[in-house]
Amino acid sequence: MAAAVKDMFPEARFGVGPVIENGCYYDFILPRTLIPEDLPLLEEKIVALLKRNLIFKVQEVTFERAIEIFTELKQPLKLELLNDLATRGTTSMSQEEAETIGIDLLNLKITIYRLEDEDTGEDLFVDLCRGPHIKSVQELGKLGFKLDKFSGSYWRGDQKRNIKMQRIYALVFNTQSDLNNFLYQREEAQKRDHRLLGQQLEIFTIHEEVGAGLPLYLPKGGLIRRTLESYCWQEAKKAGYQYVYTPHIGKSDLFARSGHLDHYRDGMYAPIEMINLKGEGKDETGKGEVFYLKPMNCPMHHYIYLYKPRSYRDLPYRLYEYGTVYRYEESGVLTGLIRVRGFTQNDAHVYCTPEQLTEVIGEAINRFTRAYKDIGITDYKIRFSLPDFENDKEKYGEETQEWRDSIRDMRKALDALGVDYYDAIGEAAFYGPKIDFQVKNVNGKEDTLSTIQVDYSIAPKFNITYKDKDGKDKVPVIIHMALMGSIDRFMAFMLEMTGGRLPFWLAPEQVRILTINDQVEDYVRQIKSVLDSIVLMKPLKYNELRYTIDNNNESLSKKIREAELQKIPVILIVGPKDIEAHEISVRMQNKEEKVKLEDLKNWLESI
Ligand code: ZN
Repeated sequence: MAAAVKDMFPEARFGVGPVIENGCYYDFILPRTLIPEDLPLLEEKIVALLKRNLIFKVQEVTFERAIEIFTELKQPLKLELLNDLATRGTTSMSQEEAETIGIDLLNLKITIYRLEDEDTGEDLFVDLCRGPHIKSVQELGKLGFKLDKFSGSYWRGDQKRNIKMQRIYALVFNTQSDLNNFLYQREEAQKRDHRLLGQQLEIFTIHEEVGAGLPLYLPKGGLIRRTLESYCWQEAKKAGYQYVYTPHIGKSDLFARSGHLDHYRDGMYAPIEMINLKGEGKDETGKGEVFYLKPMNCPMHHYIYLYKPRSYRDLPYRLYEYGTVYRYEESGVLTGLIRVRGFTQNDAHVYCTPEQLTEVIGEAINRFTRAYKDIGITDYKIRFSLPDFENDKEKYGEETQEWRDSIRDMRKALDALGVDYYDAIGEAAFYGPKIDFQVKNVNGKEDTLSTIQVDYSIAPKFNITYKDKDGKDKVPVIIHMALMGSIDRFMAFMLEMTGGRLPFWLAPEQVRILTINDQVEDYVRQIKSVLDSIVLMKPLKYNELRYTIDNNNESLSKKIREAELQKIPVILIVGPKDIEAHEISVRMQNKEEKVKLEDLKNWLESI
C-alpha cells in the first residue's frame, strides 16, 4: 500500500503503519486530500505491483546510516522517530510506533526493509520495519485485501503540533473468501444497527437542542415501549409485585445514606439547589436545600418498605416501578439508546427472608426467560456472577456466611429450573452475587440486559428489618431486579437482534391493508370492522390490534415494498376479485395465502 501511495504521490511523507484488528493502516502526509475514487486506483496499483517479481530486502544498519538513508529519501517523520529513539529510547514511542520500527536496542542495530523489483533493481519503497512478517512478497498475492476507508489523523496523535496526516485503512485476510465473509457480516451487522433501524422504522430520535443522550420516542417507538411495559408489568403482577411511583429527584441526605454520594459520584449530576431562577428559597445561610437527580430508584423504594413496620407475614414484599434515572456519561461514549444520559429502568426490589431467596429468584429467572422467548430474543447467555475472594479482597471483603448461603440458594434456583448458565468469578457486585442475562450487540460488544442482584449491604444502612416468628427484628435479604435493565437499552438490543422484525404482538403496526383500486372501498370497510373486533390475549392480554390502510394511488408493488421496509408482520392485499370470493390475500415474511373474511379474526388471533 505504501509503495502504491508513493507511486501515486512521489512527494508523500510517511508516518507509521501498524497492524490492527482485521488489517492495518498507514498514515501519510499527501499533497492533496484523498477522495473516495483514490482507493480503487490505489488497489489497482497494488494488484499491478504484486504481479511484478518483487522481493523484500532486509538490511541491518547503524543509527547513523539509518539517518543518512531517510535524509536522502526526504522522510522527516521517519527521521523524527529515529532521533527520538536515540535521545529518549522506546519510552518516547507509542505502542504502534515502537512496533513498526525495527530496532535492536541492545546492539543499536536498526532493520530496514526495501521492497525491490528483482528484475530491474528498482527500490519501490523503503521503511523502518521490525519484520519479517511474511516469508516472501509472493505470499501477499494469496491474501484477501481491500482498501477500506480513509480518515484524518494527527502525527503521533498530537493535535497541538497540528501536523495533519491522512490514514488509509486496509482490510487483510488470509484468503479472499475470509475477506468476503467479513464484508458480508459487517454489512449485515450495519443493517441491524439499532440507530439505523430506529430512524428507518421511526422509533426514536435524538435532537441536539433537547440534548445528546436524551432520546425522544416517536409514536411508533412509544407504542412498542408501552406494549413492552404493559407485558412486563402484567407478568410481574402475576408474581405478586406491587406498582409504585417515586420522584425523579431526592434530597442529598438520601443519597448520602445510600452511599451513592460516596461511591457513585462519577455517575451523578451536579446538585440542584431548591431555589428558583430569581434566587428565592434560600435559608439564613444563603443556600437552598440540595437535591440530586436520582441515579437509581432503590433508596426511594426502601422508604416505601419503611412506611410501616413489616412482619415475616408480609414477605416477600415486592415493589415494581418504571423509574427514570439520570447518569452522567461523557459525550464521546453516547450511543443511540444503548448509552444515554437519562433512561428508564423496569426496576423491582424484593425484600424477603433468607429462606425465601431460592423461590424468589427462581420465579424471576423463569419469568425473564419466558419474556425473552415472547419478545424474540434467543441469543443470550445466563451468567452467574460470583465474587473473587482470593484476588479481590478490596472489593469483596471476607467470605461471610451470607455470601456462602446466597450463592448456594441462587445456584439451587438455577439448577432447579434446568437452565444453561455459566459461572463468572469476579463479576459479582461488591454487595452480593448476581444472575445476569448477557447479550452481544451488532458489533460483538457484550452487555448485561437483565439482572438479578442480591444485596446484603444496604438493609442495615436504612435500618430495614422485619419482625420474625420469634418476635425478633431481623434483616431481610434485598434483591434488585430488572428484566429490561434499562428499557431504552433493552429496546436497542431487541431491535438489533430481531433486525426490527418484532413479534406480531409487539409490532407497532401489526397489519396494513393495501388496496388494489378504489372499487374495494365497501369491502375494506367490512375488513376493518373485523380488525376492530380483534383483541389479542397472548402473550399480552387485552392487546388491541393495531392496523392502518394504504389506499394511495400507488402501484401495488410499491405499496408492498413500503410495507415490507417498515417490517409490518401482516400485509392484507384487497382487490376487486376478492370481494366476490369473500377472501383476502395475506402476505407475511415467508408465506402468502388466501384467507376467507369469516376466518380472518381467528387467523390473526392465532399468529
Ligand atoms: Zn436497586
